[in-house]
Amino acid sequence: MDHPVTRLLLVPKPGSCDPETPLAQVVLRYQAAGSDEFNDMQQVLFSHVDVAALGGEQAVAAVGTPLAIGLPVALERPRSRGRLSLASADPRIQPLIELNFAADPEDLRRLVEGVHLAWRIAHEPEIARHVKRVALLTEDAMSSDEALARYVHATVTTQFHPCGTARMGPSGDPMAVVDQYCRVREAQNLRVVDASVMPTIPRANINLTCIMIGERVSDWMRGRGLGPRPAPAQARDSPHTGGRRDPVDRWPGEGQPVAGVALVWPRSRTATPAPPLGRSRSGAGREVGPRVQPRPPTTCGSRHPPTRDMTTVLTP
Ligand SMILES: Cc1cc2nc3c(=O)[nH]c(=O)nc-3n(C[C@H](O)[C@H](O)[C@H](O)COP(=O)(O)OP(=O)(O)OC[C@H]3O[C@@H](n4cnc5c(N)ncnc54)[C@H](O)[C@@H]3O)c2cc1C
Repeated sequence: MDHPVTRLLLVPKPGSCDPETPLAQVVLRYQAAGSDEFNDMQQVLFSHVDVAALGGEQAVAAVGTPLAIGLPVALERPRSRGRLSLASADPRIQPLIELNFAADPEDLRRLVEGVHLAWRIAHEPEIARHVKRVALLTEDAMSSDEALARYVHATVTTQFHPCGTARMGPSGDPMAVVDQYCRVREAQNLRVVDASVMPTIPRANINLTCIMIGERVSDWMRGRGLGPRPAPAQARDSPHTGGRRDPVDRWPGEGQPVAGVALVWPRSRTATPAPPLGRSRSGAGREVGPRVQPRPPTTCGSRHPPTRDMTTVLTP
């Protein structure tokens, strides 16, 4: 799974695109019309997009500027599923990755609708006064579902949120690689602790969820935050352990050597010690959780690799 993203690129008026400003300043989360998924869409206003990074000099020529204002349109709850498979038994050979973006008609419909919304946003007076024109799209193309579908297929790419390739699931699920404690089924003392265990894709950028998974499992492996010890009566036989008792009657990791894969964000790099709940550092107001040190603005979005030749995008 991943979040597929297409985008509008706006050719800015002189002085309206400043690469020194933060890249992503406004994020819109919303539910696509007719969708049964809450907040299944995300749009961002990117102040400056390096067009060559999207598709080289060919893209710069097609868009008509090296630096554009970007309106990425991302699908946060895609129905389409990609596929990761092994190309070889040799672990040094890269696996095969099929993204399969917008293959499901409902995914395509929501992305096309998102392009319509981005077009409207681009023409709002506060944005339009900074914009010479929308690149690659025309009024004619906007009135043709077929042309917009071609535009989406030609421009859709990754939001860099791949996940779910070793997903978590119950013991009866033949596709579940790990159990609810991130332990690899049918293997001893081996865990997978990263984005690949996500059973479904979060409806937001996934880095915080990855950090949470790492923190949670590292706590379990050190015997913290486990709650009451389950009663032995809750133990059950598991087909995945060859009929042996599944160790659900123990805390995960209890009595086992700490081994396996744990990709954990170092605590010291992200969080400062939090004051007691209910009090802020100044003693006034209300503190709701640990403070996170400010990090430099992300460049996500300005380095999306080209998926296809952008010059072939459109003719209605
Ligand atoms: C350009 C870009 C921008 C992004 N922007 C955002 C954003 O703004 N917000 C957001 O929420 N998410 C963002 N993401 C997504 C987020 O960074 C990832 O989803 C998240 O880091 C995934 O965490 P992970 O632990 O699964 O994998 P990773 O963070 O990729 O960790 C994998 C680790 O394994 C190590 N490793 C790999 N192979 C081996 C090996 N053979 N042996 C030992 N170690 C190995 C790697 O060095 C790495 O440290 C972005 C991603 C990219 C690429």
